[in-house]
This record gives sequence, C-alpha cells and structure tokens, in this order.
Amino acid sequence: MSECSVCSKGEEAARIVNELLERKTPLREIQAQTSIHKNSLHRHQHGNCRFSFSKFKAAKIKSKAPNLDGRMIVSWPERDGDGQPAHFSYFDRILHEQDLLPADTLFIVEYATRFDPATHAEQNRTHVSNAIVAEAREEDASRSKLPT
Ligand SMILES: [Zn+2]
Repeated sequence: MSECSVCSKGEEAARIVNELLERKTPLREIQAQTSIHKNSLHRHQHGNCRFSFSKFKAAKIKSKAPNLDGRMIVSWPERDGDGQPAHFSYFDRILHEQDLLPADTLFIVEYATRFDPATHAEQNRTHVSNAIVAEAREEDASRSKLPT
C-alpha cells in the first residue's frame, strides 16, 4: 500500500489540510487550494495514515486534557499571632508566586476564627433553648422526688 498522497507531502502540508478539514472546507475547495485530488483528501480524512485527520483531532483533544503533571501546592494565608506571612509551599519547600506553573493545583488554606467554647455557647443560646433546659431541669427535679 502506497503512502497517502497528503501525508507524503510532509507533516506541515498534512497539518494545513487537517486544519482545512477541521473547518469543514469542502474537499473540492481544498483540492483547488492544494492541488491534491479530492479522492486522496477523502482517503486522508478517513484513513489511518501517518498524519491522518483522526490523529490530528486526537492530538488536539489530548492538548486540552487537564495536565496531571502539575504539583499540589498549598497556599497558606497570613496568620496573626505567629507573624507568618502568606506563602505557597510544596512539601517542605517555600515557593514564590512566580514559581507557580499553570499545571499546578492550589489548595487554598483559610483559618476559621479562633474557637472559644464559652463565648460560643453564649452566642448559641436562645430563648427557646433556655426554656427547654428549664423544662428539663424541672422534670429531673420532679422525678427525683418520686418514691423509688
Ligand atoms: Zn494522510
């Protein structure tokens, strides 16, 4: 089997034809532009030749797929108390913003406000819960009065 007459013109020529095919250019028009017979263009479009249209499309899909080679970077916020400035880290390495690569994935850390159980309990107490607590205490008191 002889080589496809599109591919035999080289990778660059095949790429141009593939781009025209991708834009749904009629084969007759590609023939007019490239002097490659439309039957050859048709075979190239649907074949599995060296620089085939299907390989061209597959390569495009691959280039759009998420890059799994990126690093997992932790983005730390500035923290009050220990004077730690905001920074990025990769394992035990500190990175500068300019060291980040497009393929990297950022885990952004945010600290919650300091938890104080006493204040928290006070903030969460409502009139309803006070009433329920009072009722429960009353019930407990009345039960303890019951003869055993
Ligand atoms: Zn070909």
